[in-house]
Amino acid sequence: MKTIGLIGGMSWQSSVLYYRMLNEGIERRLGGLHSAQILLYSVDFQPIESLQHAGDWDGAAEVLADAARRLQAGGADFFLIGTNTMHQVADAAGAAVDIPLLHIADATARVLQNDGVKRIGLLGTAFTMELDFYRQRLIDQFGIDVVVPELHDRQIVHDIIYQELCAGKVDDDSREVYLAVIERMAREQIDGVILGCTEIGMLVQPQHTAMRLYDTTAIHAEAAVELALADS
Ligand code: GLU
Repeated sequence: MKTIGLIGGMSWQSSVLYYRMLNEGIERRLGGLHSAQILLYSVDFQPIESLQHAGDWDGAAEVLADAARRLQAGGADFFLIGTNTMHQVADAAGAAVDIPLLHIADATARVLQNDGVKRIGLLGTAFTMELDFYRQRLIDQFGIDVVVPELHDRQIVHDIIYQELCAGKVDDDSREVYLAVIERMAREQIDGVILGCTEIGMLVQPQHTAMRLYDTTAIHAEAAVELALADS
């Protein structure tokens, strides 16, 4: 089994989910008391959040590059960045080490392609919904058309992530807000919605909506489990 490196802490709420899902995935496949070999480097999120909102992506890239080097030095065979948003600096983090990065958008796109999805809604931080690093990757590299909510909805979705979900707060009213946003996106003939922020799965789950949901935390963890067990 390969050792999975995980850059976590963005937020730590979703790192908890990753830790559980990675272990459950290995246990499901290997049985018994098998569990995942994981190196977790968990950052302090507050300064990262400040860098994001200041638009200092170079500063954020340096933090992640440093984290990736630590994982490599510790013996990780490959690594994950446990947040969609910080894939904005995925190239810099990947270039800092020799071990491969398992990109969250690529893992998600492969599942979408398997399901024959042509047009998908995207929920996440404003960075993920608006910058090119995520949306354009799905369009250019996988031929999947991406729909995002309108501006006001994007702001609400973004604020709930940072003010509530990253602080571990799961609120019924906020869930209703998200479901209403999903309903408005549904008018755009989408085949499903990417939960493109690793905390959204805490709030919205399949039992809350008829819309097909693609939870990037679960998809990313599953892809990591498969890679960890490949050729072993
Ligand atoms: N975990 C979130 C994501 O997947 C948001 C927190 C962050 O900005 O990294 O985008």
